[in-house]
Amino acid sequence: MKKRLFLPLLAAALLSSCKNNSADECSFYAMDTYITLKAYGDGAAQANEEAQKKIKELSSELDPYVEGSAIQSLNLNGKADTAGEVRGLIEASVGLSERTSDVFDITILPLKKLWGFDTGVLYIPSAQEIAQAQSLIGSDRILISESGQIELGEGQKIDPGAVAKGYACDVVKKIYADRGVESAILSLGGNVMAIGQGPDKSSWSVGISDPEGGTDYLCVLSVTDKCVVTSGNYRRYLTDDEGRRYGHIIDPESGRPAESDIVSATVICESGTVADALSTAVFVMGSEKAIDFYKNSDDIDIILYLSDGRLLASEGIAGQISATKTVIQTIKH
Ligand code: AMP
Ligand code: MG
Repeated sequence: MKKRLFLPLLAAALLSSCKNNSADECSFYAMDTYITLKAYGDGAAQANEEAQKKIKELSSELDPYVEGSAIQSLNLNGKADTAGEVRGLIEASVGLSERTSDVFDITILPLKKLWGFDTGVLYIPSAQEIAQAQSLIGSDRILISESGQIELGEGQKIDPGAVAKGYACDVVKKIYADRGVESAILSLGGNVMAIGQGPDKSSWSVGISDPEGGTDYLCVLSVTDKCVVTSGNYRRYLTDDEGRRYGHIIDPESGRPAESDIVSATVICESGTVADALSTAVFVMGSEKAIDFYKNSDDIDIILYLSDGRLLASEGIAGQISATKTVIQTIKH
């Protein structure tokens, strides 16, 4: 049987070319991106229905710009009683800030706003304005009580945009497990979660988009039970009058759009939440720090496409890569 190839962002088009009778498939728009769910076996249709409902619910609850959402009211009031997924996401995010020495930080919103990424109109702030927004950044100021109350530091506002899709993948994975679905693949923008094996008992094939080519890919990975998440500045950026690009991923340390030697950063691991947060963080770190970070981690693999054209892959995944755009250099643990 032909292997199934899942390209983040292009998954919908590819999925339609590989129909399988026992599969249930649905595509819809939520969390600011196109989402495709494909599940196999008994219970797949019901699980997909439940998963779609849950993703749409998360999409509005976790969006700071949706009127009355959990995150918007937390940002407005500075505190909120939270439960379930909202609390789970914030707790996990605080832990991931600690793990990345605050390179990944959901309190990034004041900086994101300052540069105009919420309205889409670029604003070049002064050093003073940057310092003022930076003074509001720091997840270590978020207090989470045992009863579930979350209190932000004075003036802090959160934006879970760098982790929400990966978190949703984990929530959906649990829905499938509860419904007895053992084989499924989901694509949420640049996030692909491969659950179990493909229906023909082979690995899933996941393509990583080529930043330089619309429908091409950098390489194809062969994975089972892994989430593959890619971050980069090549699709979402603002441009100034001279054509200079300002990417949407911000370095909390400089308070500016990250100037990274990485064009595309992919993190592969079992947890969607971890893969999503860390792909954003790895991008900000740049290749040298990202490689050190990988060497000090035992739950992730990374693939980095650098601005000098090199394609690097960590040793845990390098052997499962095919159809590469260029020769792969292996990163040893
Ligand atoms: P991703 O596409 O997962 O890399 O997430 C990028 C989005 O996360 C941006 O559009 C911002 O909303 C937000 N973001 C930007 N920089 C950071 C950062 N350093 N830490 C956490 N979130 C960020
Ligand atoms: Mg991310």
